[in-house]
Amino acid sequence: MAPISKETDYLVIGGGSGGLGSARTAAGKFGAKAMIVEASRLGGTCVNVGCVPKKVTFNAAAIAETIHAAKAYGFSVQETAPFDFKTFKHKRDAYIKRLNGIYERNLGNDGVEYVHGWAKLLNRNEVEITQDDGAKSVVRAKKILIATGGEPTHAPSGVEGAEHGTNSDGFFDIDRTPKKVALVGAGYIAVEFAGMFNALGAETHLFIRHKTFLRNFDPMIQEGVTAEYERLGVKLHKESTPTKVEKDPSTGKLTIHYKDVESGEGQEVEGIDNLIWAIGRTPMSHGIGLEEAGVKLDDRGYVVADDYQNTSVDNIFALGDVCGKVELTPVAIAAGRRLAERLFGPPEFNAARVDYSNIPSVVFAHPEVGSIGLTEPQAVEKYGRDNLKVYSTSFTAMYYAMMDPEDKGPTKYKVICAGPDEKVVGLHIMGLGSGEMLQGFGVAVKMGATKKDLDSCIAIHPTSAEELVTLK
Ligand SMILES: Cc1cc2nc3c(=O)[nH]c(=O)nc-3n(C[C@H](O)[C@H](O)[C@H](O)COP(=O)(O)OP(=O)(O)OC[C@H]3O[C@@H](n4cnc5c(N)ncnc54)[C@H](O)[C@@H]3O)c2cc1C
Repeated sequence: MAPISKETDYLVIGGGSGGLGSARTAAGKFGAKAMIVEASRLGGTCVNVGCVPKKVTFNAAAIAETIHAAKAYGFSVQETAPFDFKTFKHKRDAYIKRLNGIYERNLGNDGVEYVHGWAKLLNRNEVEITQDDGAKSVVRAKKILIATGGEPTHAPSGVEGAEHGTNSDGFFDIDRTPKKVALVGAGYIAVEFAGMFNALGAETHLFIRHKTFLRNFDPMIQEGVTAEYERLGVKLHKESTPTKVEKDPSTGKLTIHYKDVESGEGQEVEGIDNLIWAIGRTPMSHGIGLEEAGVKLDDRGYVVADDYQNTSVDNIFALGDVCGKVELTPVAIAAGRRLAERLFGPPEFNAARVDYSNIPSVVFAHPEVGSIGLTEPQAVEKYGRDNLKVYSTSFTAMYYAMMDPEDKGPTKYKVICAGPDEKVVGLHIMGLGSGEMLQGFGVAVKMGATKKDLDSCIAIHPTSAEELVTLK
């Protein structure tokens, strides 16, 4: 192992989305002496156990749906064998490994010193690094970035047998289509996984505590996607939560006991091959000397940082999931780059920071969901019902024209406008292609588009997106 530098300008803890973006900008763009310490695999959550392998799996699920749709279009598609999950996983793993290598090479190209190890603050300027062989070194840094991300929240300790389940990291170890799978959680990760399993042919059970899922999204999305999952055959256990999990030692199958909140009765689902807890994420902020160095955490353990990524210690900065503001990869990357520009760039970057308003986000559900700006309840709270005009539409996309009625999926759009000039303050879409569609509309919303601006753009026909520029 190469010896580690004893001093650096910029020590970045965490080689995920935000850390990589920041270290590479500092060193590659401005020539700062930068070091990145990563305990696991370069690329962090997104590349290894998040966005990337998730989207590849979503693509596999989308192909399964296309094969089904192909028959309606007159193709005589015959599947001679079930989906080969093992080969798929093998190729997906190899792709991720290639990406890990590319990230390491990029660090080298930008002159960032990369250390594989666990970092812990000793004080506001010194970090102890424990390398894989147990060797410890202390590095003195002028500036330190905390980009340690988060981890899946542990299964609830009050549920007997909860340990028989896995979490979102474990989702990526699965190498065969389960006959029966159960997921617990109502956030986008649980919803995306459930949609994929269902499309790939698994009997999918989803436990949610309320009547709908995706509860941070506009009610149209919550209700629309929840209803669509039921229509697609996902077994939704609403207002229920597992109370006990039993494992049959001979078959390995799980029985999930749960209480139905409405009836108050105990129920169970048997024969579950995989149980996945997707009940939130916890910031990686403990045991790394943050509080000892004076860095303030909030009561949920997130690092308190302002919009410039400053923490309570003036040479220590934090960004990404460990701050819990908007837990998305592009947000972490942008925050990392802006911060490096501000810290190491010329004066024109003195005020560089991320604009945390109007960040578009997508859920790779079935169908896809896209959302930017305020939900309708948020808009009502901010502007008052009388100052809003809400345009919405619900229709069947032309893609489904050739399909039987039971195979037609929903498309729903909503545009929320405020004030006399009808400025777009919220845009919510669900339906085929929503993920790709939102990016362009996101630019328009960031630029302050009004309803008139949307209407002034000639429709592209025949598409679903044209409905967004012809709303009445
Ligand atoms: C299943 C799933 C799907 C997702 N899908 C999407 C998506 O589609 N789109 C999207 O935008 N976002 C998605 N996300 C969220 C996205 O992955 C995160 O927002 C993003 O990775 C956050 O980046 P980060 O740099 O803050 O942290 P991370 O990427 O988590 O990186 C932090 C790194 O720090 C390392 N680390 C922690 N402590 C130490 C230490 N003490 N010493 C050394 N290293 C340390 C960790 O090993 C980790 O590699 C998804 C997340 C999950 C879990």
